Amino acid sequence: MLSVKNLEVVYNDVILVLRGVSLTVPRGQIVALLGANGAGKTTLLRALSGLLDIHDGRITKGEILLGDRPIHGWDAPKIVAAGLGQVLEGRRVFGEFTVEENLRVGGHTRRGSLTDSIDEIYTLFPVLKERRKRTAGYLSGGEQQMLAMGRALVAQPDVILLDEPSLGLAPRIVQQIKDIVVQINEERGTTVLLVEQNATMALSIAQHGYVMEHGKIVMDQPAAALLEDDDIRDFYLGRG
Ligand code: ATP
Repeated sequence: MLSVKNLEVVYNDVILVLRGVSLTVPRGQIVALLGANGAGKTTLLRALSGLLDIHDGRITKGEILLGDRPIHGWDAPKIVAAGLGQVLEGRRVFGEFTVEENLRVGGHTRRGSLTDSIDEIYTLFPVLKERRKRTAGYLSGGEQQMLAMGRALVAQPDVILLDEPSLGLAPRIVQQIKDIVVQINEERGTTVLLVEQNATMALSIAQHGYVMEHGKIVMDQPAAALLEDDDIRDFYLGRG
């Protein structure tokens, strides 16, 4: 289980962007985090991943627990090694490396055999196997998203953070990404925190959802209840 308690984050020591955020991602579940642009979703993921400092951000209050271990203040590699993987916004892949090289980089903290782990990724994403010798920078947007996910999964995380995996992708590819998120959750038991603008997609596969506004959680409900909520409908589902 991943839990965040009363988290406050500032950028440049002045701008308070998270104002006491608390949320829980129970083991084995998919939890959706929704919110308009600028609400603070990416900032929360950066805090969870130990990546705030490279953006001049800092946790000023609260705690982050992975299982019963407090991980706030840990650096990013230590957090990945503890079993929390992340797929950052903008599907960053090493554009000049091949698909397989990208997967090997992702696997340096894995447990067990790297070859087996990469083979599992190829089973999940057959298109990556087809493209394994291609330079990652030449893949399509959807393939790059799959590679970014594959690179995080190769380390066999217990929990994975996904930042807007469907952004800018065609509906057919969004459907594939959605199916894969469900598959890794069901088959590997991976716990998922899914940040999405596409609320329909996120809530259709999540058990629980949170809505964030101006650095605070303003709704915290089962996903099915959020799907029925008029405010959520008006605000997000029209765009879904
Ligand atoms: P989006 O969907 O656009 O990514 P978001 O909900 O993820 O939005 P954040 O990216 O976390 O929101 O941004 C929250 C607030 O923090 C915004 O007002 C943003 O301008 C500000 N912010 C983000 N990064 C920095 C930074 N490095 N320095 C200062 N302010 C920042």
